[in-house]
This record gives sequence, structure tokens and C-alpha cells, in this order.
Amino acid sequence: MIAYIERFIHENDSESRPTDDEKDQLPNIRHSLDLQGTINCVDTGLAGKDFGGLYTCEPLALIRPASPDDVARVVEAAYRSPNLTVAARGNGHSINGQAMSDGGLVMDMRSTEGNHFEVVRMNGETFVDVSGGALWEDVLKRCVSEYKLAPRSWTDYLGLTVGGTLSNAGVSGQAFRFGPQTCNVAELDVVTGKGELVTCNENENSELFFGALGGLGQFGIVTRARVAVQPAPDMVRWIRVVYAEFEDFTRCAEWLVTRPEGESFDYVEGFVFVNSVDDPANGWPTVPLDPDQGFDPSRIPRTAGSVLYCLEVALHYQKTDHPSTVDKAVNSLLGRLGFIEDMKFQVDVSYVEFLLRVKHVEVSARANGTWDAPHPWLNMFVSKRDIADFDRVVFKRMLKNGVGGPMLVYPLLRSK
Ligand SMILES: Cc1cc2nc3c(=O)[nH]c(=O)nc-3n(C[C@H](O)[C@H](O)[C@H](O)COP(=O)(O)OP(=O)(O)OC[C@H]3O[C@@H](n4cnc5c(N)ncnc54)[C@H](O)[C@@H]3O)c2cc1C
Repeated sequence: MIAYIERFIHENDSESRPTDDEKDQLPNIRHSLDLQGTINCVDTGLAGKDFGGLYTCEPLALIRPASPDDVARVVEAAYRSPNLTVAARGNGHSINGQAMSDGGLVMDMRSTEGNHFEVVRMNGETFVDVSGGALWEDVLKRCVSEYKLAPRSWTDYLGLTVGGTLSNAGVSGQAFRFGPQTCNVAELDVVTGKGELVTCNENENSELFFGALGGLGQFGIVTRARVAVQPAPDMVRWIRVVYAEFEDFTRCAEWLVTRPEGESFDYVEGFVFVNSVDDPANGWPTVPLDPDQGFDPSRIPRTAGSVLYCLEVALHYQKTDHPSTVDKAVNSLLGRLGFIEDMKFQVDVSYVEFLLRVKHVEVSARANGTWDAPHPWLNMFVSKRDIADFDRVVFKRMLKNGVGGPMLVYPLLRSK
């Protein structure tokens, strides 16, 4: 099945259109499926593209399952057929056609988003059961507004589904403390490649559990995930500080991510930007957190090179905390960091607003058309040993004029 999908995705040639045989199978499959949800063979456009915009394809049908049973029936039908393939689609924010199936069946998991939402206490810990097709932004809003709880580990952007990020990793500025989202799940319901609905966790059906987490949908389709949650803070102090030297930037970031819990920030990320005012997508204008904050270039040392570095951190707090307590905690950490003097930008925002910060980027990118442009994005893990060379060759030379968008770089701990 994987090879079949790979052929269609990667070759994308005329052979990859649905064959007449495959089209002929559809009425039979449709009849035998007896779905509560819908099956659409005409308006399948959504399933033929993704955020990457690098590949397109033509699926045989777009299915909107209503329940895990529907998902199981579709997968079982594909399993029984000689050559039909099936792919789960979360919110289609992959960049390389991972959620596509040219000539096959694509399941729009968003149609199942309302199936699960329940807070569960287990062995003294608290979890929330959510649907594989739920958007993280909706999980956040419900958890905070109904229970004042929140998952611990996030992605930067939350217009992604639970199943979509758990099939990858789900990495953001909390991963140094809690690990990626895949490390914050206690249990899954998964529809296997044979169309069986199986509950799995690290003790029960553990191979399936660890296969499905980070498995790009190739080990089964997640219909429910039990996600670890913690009490949600009310507020976040969100801070950016600027560095001229990569060595100082990485030393400070690495120091922060190795501090014990309670003695560091709650979120640590960073990015590289172009040392230029003329570049609205890569340069100085990308750093201030508020339109009223100015970027004063006279502070940048003369020795600075083609790119500068921004460390981005955040501290959680409650509305009941005294402002001086928050200031003290922030200043004591910032006082240990060696950023360019006075190159500091900070705002206080609600916790939900902080986690939804990339939504504003989406709104303006949709308005100016760049959201629909191709996104040949690359994520990579670089070892500590090589990161200085990476900076020297890649950031300072190859990407000295930027990439027309963000270049994030932040440390993670192997132990997480
Ligand atoms: C603007 C933007 C910002 C991002 N930021 C981050 C970030 O900060 N950190 C990060 O880690 N990632 C980030 N990503 C990447 C993102 O996590 C992945 O692309 C993710 O897979 C997208 O989720 P999706 O719901 O759109 O999944 P899709 O693209 O629809 O699917 C992704 C893969 O998961 C499979 N899949 C989907 N649903 C299920 C399911 N229920 N069960 C099993 N398999 C399933 C699909 O078959 C496919 O292989 C970002 C992406 C975008 C577009």
C-alpha cells in the first residue's frame, strides 16, 4: 500500500490517474460500505492538494466519515480490494502530499472532530480524550474555557489536527520540557490497516501505539487520543531578545532549556533574521511584538554579520500573581542572558492568545495570497556538535538573504 501511494505521489505521472478498473469498483464499495458519513466522487478538490502546494493529485473519492466505525469500514474495503489505497487527511497542512491518495480514497478526518471530548483522571494524572480529526485550536479553547486545563506540548500553529500532528511529532517551544506531542499521549484508538478498531497504549498493543505515533498514517488511523493536560495559566509574558553572535544565542538558549522546571521560561524558541531594514519578511521588522515597538539599529554592534538571532521566550502566570512577582522572575532570568543591550521586546497576552499567535500570520498571509503559495519547507534536527558549522555555512552564507519567511532555530533535549 505504501509503495502504491509513493508511486502516485512521487511520480505524479499520467499512470497515476485512477484506472477504469478502480473507477468501476466504486459503486460496489459505496454500496457495501453503508456509511453514516458521506462519500463524494465529484467534489474531491480538497483532497488533491495540501499546504505545501508542491504536489497535486486526483483521488477517486473524498469520504467524510461520521464515526470510527465509518473509518474502519472504509479501511477494510480498501484492504479487501486488490489495489485500492486509502489515506487519512487531517487539515492537509503537510507539504509533500503525505495526506493524499491519487486514485484512492481520502478520508477527511475533520468530519469526526466532534466525536470525543472528555476529561479523564487516571493514576493521579489528568487527560483529555479528543478526536483524531479535532483541530488543536478547538481542543485548546474547550479545555481552557470549560476546565481551565490545557495540553502541555504544542505546535506553533494550531490549525492542525490531533491525528495529523501525532502522526508526525508536534514540536514547539515547550518540547524541551515535555517532549513533542507524541510523548504526551497515554492512549489511542486506532483503525488498523485491516480495518479493525483497536485501543492501544504503552502496555496494551504497544507496537501499534508506538507505530501510530509519528507513523504518518501508515500504521493506522487515529480516531481518539488521550492527551495529557495541566492547569492552564491565565497569562503569558512573551519576550524577544536579539543577539549578534550565534555563539551567545545558542549558549543562552541551551542554558534555559537545561534549567530545572520552575527555574526557567515555559517556552523557548528562536529564529534567525536578516540584518536589514528593507526586508519585511526576513529582516528587522519581523522582531518587534507590537506595532508600537521600534527596532533601534544603532544598538547593533558594528561587528554583526549578515544575519542576527532572536531568542523568543515566554513565562506563564496567573492574573492573581502580583506584577512585581512576574517582573522579578522574568528579570532574574533575562539578567543571566547576554543579548544586545536594550534589544528586548515584550508584551503580556492571554495564554490562549499566545498559543494562537500564528493565527494572525495566517489571516494576513491569506489576505495577501502567500498562504496559497507553494511552501517547500524543511524541518531538521541538527546535533549540538554541528550547529555552529550549520550557522556558518547555511545561515551566514547560503541563507544570508533569508528564505522569504521564518527560519526558526531552537534547542531540544535528546532525553525528551
Ligand atoms: C503554518 C504551519 C505551521 C506548523 N508548525 C508546526 C510546528 O510548530 N511544529 C510541528 O511539529 N509541526 C508544525 N507544522 C507541521 C504540521 O505539524 C504537520 O504538517 C501536520 O501533519 C499537519 O497536520 P494536519 O492535520 O494538517 O495533517 P495532514 O497534513 O492532513 O496529514 C499529515 C499526515 O498525518 C496523517 N494523518 C492525518 N490524520 C490522521 C489520523 N487521524 N490518524 C493517522 N494519520 C493521520 C496523514 O495521512 C498524513 O500522513 C506546521 C504546519 C503548518 C502549515
